[in-house]
Amino acid sequence: MNRIRLLDPLVAQRIAAGEVIERPASVVRELIDNAIDAEATTITVQVVSGGIERITVIDDGVGIRSNDLPLCCHSHTTSKVATLEDLYNLSTMGFRGEALYSIAASAKVTIASTHVESTPTTLVVDNAKEGEIYPGGPAKGTQIDVENLFSAIPARRLFLKRPATESTMCRKILVEKARAFPTISFRFYDGETLRLDLPATNHKQRILDTLTQDKRVIPSETIELSETASRFSLYAVASTPAYYRTDRSHIAVYINQRPIEEYALVQAVTYGYGEMLPGGAFPYCYLFVSVDPELVDFNIHPAKREAKLRNKAEIHHQVVVMIRQQMNKAIPQITLESPQPEFKDFIAADKSSTYLENKKRSPLAATPPQNQTKPQDPHWFQRAKEILHKQDNSTLIREDATPALDFIYHGQIFSLFLLVEKDDSLYLIDQHAAHERILFDQIRQDGGIQRLMIPIRFEVERSVDEFLTHNATWYTDYGLELQRVEDLEWELHSIPALWKPIEQAVVDFISSQSAGDIKELEKQLYATIACHAAIKDGDDIDHTTAEGLIEKVFQLDRPVCPHGRTFVVEITKEHLWRAVGRIM
Ligand code: ADP
Ligand code: MG
Repeated sequence: MNRIRLLDPLVAQRIAAGEVIERPASVVRELIDNAIDAEATTITVQVVSGGIERITVIDDGVGIRSNDLPLCCHSHTTSKVATLEDLYNLSTMGFRGEALYSIAASAKVTIASTHVESTPTTLVVDNAKEGEIYPGGPAKGTQIDVENLFSAIPARRLFLKRPATESTMCRKILVEKARAFPTISFRFYDGETLRLDLPATNHKQRILDTLTQDKRVIPSETIELSETASRFSLYAVASTPAYYRTDRSHIAVYINQRPIEEYALVQAVTYGYGEMLPGGAFPYCYLFVSVDPELVDFNIHPAKREAKLRNKAEIHHQVVVMIRQQMNKAIPQITLESPQPEFKDFIAADKSSTYLENKKRSPLAATPPQNQTKPQDPHWFQRAKEILHKQDNSTLIREDATPALDFIYHGQIFSLFLLVEKDDSLYLIDQHAAHERILFDQIRQDGGIQRLMIPIRFEVERSVDEFLTHNATWYTDYGLELQRVEDLEWELHSIPALWKPIEQAVVDFISSQSAGDIKELEKQLYATIACHAAIKDGDDIDHTTAEGLIEKVFQLDRPVCPHGRTFVVEITKEHLWRAVGRIM
């Protein structure tokens, strides 16, 4: 080993910068934080070439005094904390005084700022070399330009992805921040194109505004929850159990307005929903925890993505309680006094008979319910898989046995249920779950593989690249032929014909899997496909489509969705008559 020596300041600065500034999105994060701390009401972010060529952040905040400007790019220069106590009483996003220092070490930075108490001034720092300082700046607030990121640090540049991917990451950061600050307007430009315009609004609306891409989110099914405890308070914008996803990606936790990766609290959200959602289903829930600054330490992660909470257990408990209590209140619950039929009564075990024939002998209202809320069909995926592989023609939907329409479709209710009258009963069918199930059955019937004329190219993270390199053949078994074209670049060459309309969801699925249990992957793959292709909750469906779906549902062996959840409720005429006292 060499002798110990003091590092050259530039080397030391680059090492420190490496922790904070990893990619363009890190710059966007830090500059937005600074604009928020400067009490901006409007923040505009523009990225050129994914932010690699240029990032510009403009705010209308308090600005920087011209005398302070030369200081702001130095190490440990901040206006936000002065004493050690301040560190335990933080009310600002920034506190380390290292963001501008780190950015200035990694790019050419131009800061133009106007403070009410001084004249507009501009400072240029080029890869740690302090350059000119000259008069001129915006009418109000601050504009910071960051150009040619990592041009002097080629090793860092190597880790960057394509500009389009980097741009998406920058935009994600902005959206993440915007969710916590609804009263600030945010705009995002990719080059000259305005990609996102979030006007100042209330908290719930801001969350909805950031989710407009996702057709599954329905405002009327999104509610606000809140709770106040002695040293913390909770607020959440969350979906009712009528809406769900198959992953946790829309459960986000903010502590004192910072997005934090806190698995325990994500778990608290899922516990809170508990049995309200079927297995494998997750809600949308943006949880905002406001906690006494003394009880939380943000100074444990370079990008402040983690926090140490002193009262985590208490918060965890309160999150669960809040969701359980308030979510239940939010859902109109219709309790049927009358028992529901067992599934074997809904369609008898005799596969050759039609629904109608079974109906005649089904002792509908007679049998008490037997644990029918979540019937399990453990062979579901196995059977689906076998049929997909073998091209077996046995079908669950017996087209040949289809009777003429023997029901009346009355329309859709609660944007979810199809209301059907049949014989002496009223049936409520969950359209999404029903379609999901029917699609599964179709996958089983038709395993036709389609070669793609133009393969779909996609970029993956290192971990996924490695996983695919070893496991691509696993996907081939499902008709998904994958080829590695270059480092981190893959192509999809074929797909089961039925999955074609949701090829992007399939690609997204493939590029999100980097770990190994094939059994679990298989289940997730099937669930993803059925879920994406299915009619969504809240989708309007026309009369004919609805009738077609209902017809198929009445021919099923057991009306359970791939998650094992039942999706049909029956209310008999007799029970309704009884409920209003017409029959005693
Ligand atoms: P920190 O945010 O931790 O204080 P930074 O390096 O991010 O450290 O910023 C250094 C200082 O520069 C801040 O404390 C603040 O006084 C000033 N500053 C940075 N950006 C802005 C801005 N957009 N508006 C006003 N002041 C700013
Ligand atoms: Mg800062």
